[in-house]
Amino acid sequence: MTDLFADIIIDISHEKLDKVFQYRIPEKLRDLLEPGMCVTVPFGTGNRQIKGYVVRITEECSYDPAKLKSIIEIAPKGVSVEEKMISLAGWIKRNYGSTMIQALKTVLPAKQSVKKLEHRTICRVMSREDTVTVLGESIRKKQAAKERLLRTLLETETIPYEWVTGKLGVTPQTIQRLVTDGVIRVEQSTSFRDPVHLHRQEEKRLTSSPEQQRIVEEILQDFDKGMPGTYLIHGVTGSGKTHVYMEIIEQVIARGRQAILLIPEIALTYQTLLRFYLRFGNRVSVINSTLSPGERYDQCQRAKNGDIDIIIGPRSALFTPFPNLGVIIMDEEHESSYKSEGNPKYHARETAMEAARLHGAALVLGSATPSMEAYYRVKKGEIKLFQLHQRLTGGQLPTVSVVDLRQELREGNRSIFSRRLQELLADRLKKGEQSILFINRRGYAGFISCRSCGHVMKCPHCDVSLSEHKNGMLMCHYCGYMERKPGLCPECGSGYISGFKAGTQQIEEKLKEMFPGVRTLRMDADTTRNKDSYEKILSSFMAHEADVLIGTQMIVKGHDFPLVTLVGVLAADLSLSVSDYRAGERTFQLLTQAVGRAGRGTLPGEAVIQTYQPDHYAVTFAAAQDYEGFFEEELLYREMGGYPPVRHLMAVQVYAKSEEKGDQYVRTLASRAKEWLSGKDKRIDSDARAVILGPSPAVISKINDIFRFVFYVKCEKYDTLVFCKDYLEELIQTFSEQAVMVQFDFDPMNTM
Ligand code: ADP
Ligand code: ZN
Ligand code: ZN
Repeated sequence: MTDLFADIIIDISHEKLDKVFQYRIPEKLRDLLEPGMCVTVPFGTGNRQIKGYVVRITEECSYDPAKLKSIIEIAPKGVSVEEKMISLAGWIKRNYGSTMIQALKTVLPAKQSVKKLEHRTICRVMSREDTVTVLGESIRKKQAAKERLLRTLLETETIPYEWVTGKLGVTPQTIQRLVTDGVIRVEQSTSFRDPVHLHRQEEKRLTSSPEQQRIVEEILQDFDKGMPGTYLIHGVTGSGKTHVYMEIIEQVIARGRQAILLIPEIALTYQTLLRFYLRFGNRVSVINSTLSPGERYDQCQRAKNGDIDIIIGPRSALFTPFPNLGVIIMDEEHESSYKSEGNPKYHARETAMEAARLHGAALVLGSATPSMEAYYRVKKGEIKLFQLHQRLTGGQLPTVSVVDLRQELREGNRSIFSRRLQELLADRLKKGEQSILFINRRGYAGFISCRSCGHVMKCPHCDVSLSEHKNGMLMCHYCGYMERKPGLCPECGSGYISGFKAGTQQIEEKLKEMFPGVRTLRMDADTTRNKDSYEKILSSFMAHEADVLIGTQMIVKGHDFPLVTLVGVLAADLSLSVSDYRAGERTFQLLTQAVGRAGRGTLPGEAVIQTYQPDHYAVTFAAAQDYEGFFEEELLYREMGGYPPVRHLMAVQVYAKSEEKGDQYVRTLASRAKEWLSGKDKRIDSDARAVILGPSPAVISKINDIFRFVFYVKCEKYDTLVFCKDYLEELIQTFSEQAVMVQFDFDPMNTM
């Protein structure tokens, strides 16, 4: 029998987690040891016994075998936070195919010396009465940003500087003017301990509705019985989900446990944050992508030390090391940003289930359009479903009309606005109400093609079409490549080369042609490149500084706009034509959310969906706001195609500088995988019926001159896919080819 060795991390708080020590695995532990386990080892010259974590098991000995010490034993199942985090890393490694080191780096914040961080805070120095007077002035002068800041200062007295310039969209100049006028003061402090001081006014605490009450009670009953479960709260925006979250969190904290609230960054609005701060004061902490690693580390320390009870943040907040976690809440659980794109490619929903299990915590998912995954588990009885039926803010669901664009064209309307939409837009402008125009995806808008020969202008480095920009340039949205728009088709020389006029810029131009004087705001990846611009555009629209907001999928999230009574979806199909099994689901979610933006206030709303496929079920069910109907239809499609969540899918992605090498490599891997799956390895579950799709070049076959190939393994049993990945990883280690990189993606979010 060959000797086995284990790479072990002794100090997980070490900055370089890669610093490992090798130990010999004794006979008795051979079959028991797994990466992620905690073991006792002799360390240092005195051989004192300390704990370490196994990150890799190997047959290769990197040192003189005679000098290696042996592992003493597997440490008894640990209970410390660290040990739970390491188990979680082990689970991520196993389920998503990364190295143990990568997984550890995902769950543990890098240790950083927290430098004396400078934090600026804005404090109101003027009295309440005087501030109200200044506020009155700024309302008269229509200084919207100043108004927002002053209103907030009446509520909270001190606010972190970054919130003011970020979430509130106030410029440093405005802040400076207010300082000069003696309204506020900017304070510098080096402590991060206390980012907000609020008057926790004993706010008019809302009484839960009977529906809300029942949800909170049932979840806590399970919790108190020591059987915390997984739950899904299905309810439209405004149906009171966040209120339920706060009630649950409060009760869990009362029991001496802590809470993690995951919210996609783009949906985490200032209003939501304020609600939590007002209720829980500075027991709440917020994580966002602008935190430095040092600040992130500091936050984790505060969580570990018991200085905070609640953390709010995107995906990575899941790994907050609370000593006694009681509940994980995941709002907007259907959001694709919950899936990590870097390695390991973990999904926060699945990982949260494992984290909840390790901590003995409850897991609460919330969504207006639940993911197929979550609802499928509801149907299988693994998740308990609660429904919230009404919008508490009032406002009826909008009336929806679906317009067939083919019909429009047949009847001679060549405009990007259907006649119905034109009529309604004119009506809203006349009445002084607001409208939102929504276009699905910018990658599709603005591509340039030849009307004579069909040639499409593409990026020479990436296999995607170039998009037209205003200044006559074409740009690649993957690598940033730019070139001048040609006057003649490079293929056939025809002068009839032009764009598919449906980008946000073109819509804005057409709208201004049609309605001179209309005030517009545009929100897309270009106008929101700056950190704060997203929030600024939204608050400006909120303050009625524009009549029409034109945007991509970003605008369907976040704020409520009480004055919006019309939503137009310009081309509902753009996301349907993507070659991806989730296209229907994504389209349904976007349309439902977009339509739901109309009529949030007291005024009734209307929505117009323009489409070339008026009979597609994603369109018809979204128009009817019928989630259940959509789910059943979509599930049939997934069952027939054998796609997740019915079966599982593993993408094996191969990246290579040389097209030929990449092609050969992916073929070899795919055929070896096929062989293995039909072979005798005892890990294969023969009932699992694994199928291989491909290999083929990826949909985007080249990015930045790197060629991309992919094949898929489809299988009923997730475990079989994991074993197949393990097998392929072992195989890859025996290949000498260096210039090729392989990645695994389980149940990928898109098959691009
Ligand atoms: P969601 O998270 O589903 O969008 P929220 O919890 O934010 O819903 O509630 C929407 C609005 O209804 C908020 O303005 C909130 O203050 C209000 N609201 C929530 N629950 C209640 C309640 N029980 N009574 C009165 N108003 C409520
Ligand atoms: Zn041509
Ligand atoms: Zn490119």
